[in-house]
Amino acid sequence: MKDHEWLPMIPIKRGDGIWLEDYDGNRYIDAISSWWVNLFGHCNPRINDAIKNQLDTLEHTIMAGFTHEPVIRLSEKLVEITPHGLEHCFYADNGSSAVEVALKMSFHYWHNTGNPNKTKFINLANSYHGETLGALSLGDVALYKEIYQPLLLDVITAPSPDGFLREDGETYQDYAQHSFDEMDKILQQHADEVCAVIIEPMVQCAGNMRMYDAIYLKKLREACNKYNVHLIADEIAVGFGRTGKMFACNHADISPDFICLSKGLTGGYLPLSAVVTTDNIYQAFYDDYDKMTAFLHSHSYTGNPLGCAAALATLEIFETDNVLQNNIQLIDSMKKNTEHFNDHPHIAEVRQTGMILAIELVKDKQLKTPYPWQERRGMKVYQHGLKNNALLRPLGNVIYFMPPYVITPEQIEFLAETAWQGIQLATAD
Ligand SMILES: *Cc1c(COP(=O)(O)O)cnc(C)c1O
Repeated sequence: MKDHEWLPMIPIKRGDGIWLEDYDGNRYIDAISSWWVNLFGHCNPRINDAIKNQLDTLEHTIMAGFTHEPVIRLSEKLVEITPHGLEHCFYADNGSSAVEVALKMSFHYWHNTGNPNKTKFINLANSYHGETLGALSLGDVALYKEIYQPLLLDVITAPSPDGFLREDGETYQDYAQHSFDEMDKILQQHADEVCAVIIEPMVQCAGNMRMYDAIYLKKLREACNKYNVHLIADEIAVGFGRTGKMFACNHADISPDFICLSKGLTGGYLPLSAVVTTDNIYQAFYDDYDKMTAFLHSHSYTGNPLGCAAALATLEIFETDNVLQNNIQLIDSMKKNTEHFNDHPHIAEVRQTGMILAIELVKDKQLKTPYPWQERRGMKVYQHGLKNNALLRPLGNVIYFMPPYVITPEQIEFLAETAWQGIQLATAD
């Protein structure tokens, strides 16, 4: 908050496509999709209309004993588009809650099926799964977690397959492959006390946009089957086309036991999340009342019709506008416009997975020594962006583009140029 003494907050008056506009008429390209939620621009006419229509029909209803058309249609759609075998949807109203649902459901499944010793979870180093205590426990970004440690669940942390950590001469795939050895050991050792492994497939977004090879997902799926442990895919950030495929799990052609969805689910309009799971898991809760096997978890706004209407409109745009196909051009444009960044003496890596591109600023390029965090180099790039019509809020010293899909190649070129100038300024001394 004290930063705002010298960097005043920017009150936003209106949004229009890729742009956010403040009260002084300054416009900013939303290069990070307002923290990764927006897919098709601000005030998208089609999503706006869908919400307006829904608003005049039904704004909300209890979902215990009741249901409604938008939630039924959305559930059918999610079952259709998510990886094979995911057949039942459970709704909550934000990403963290979706993670809580998956954790509780996994634990409860093992309880219901006669495995009460399974009480633990495995996560990856550098992961992020949300802010509520359960979800925070499963994350591993010290900045968000450390202070709350006394309140959190015990978790077992495996090394991240993060390709930035590879040795000279190693490929992303080599690194993913050999970092899996440790995961395999942990699974072998702890399988009887572990409910599930939770991962962010392909990109650890909040963990500085670190990326890894899909081989890791393949191996992890096989190992989870072998050791009888669930796989929870947290696709809250990477789902809905961000990695170039509809879901990041599609890169390895795998199906998790639970997929957590939120953020882009409503196109960035309304808080809604879904956990989609298998029929096997559903059946473990399905019994007569007096068996007391039900999953008792509800949120007041579960399955909110306005959120579902926004989600349906969003998913319809994917189909009618051939979005994944058209994004290939944008992905290519992001790559081409940042190729020369690789030669910069303070850029250790430009990495890209689909519509996510990240630029890692370092003090020493050869040793990949980070800049001391106190120097806040990324912040200088951010400030330069704000003066030049670009919202480029970094993650520490990582500058990234994760734009709405309505961005044009010309706007990408402009963003790259703005980021380049900002990086020059931020690394000049
Ligand atoms: C944002 C995010 C969450 C948390 O979602 P909220 O809606 O902010 O609670 C969880 N997991 C991942 C991977 C995320 O990026």
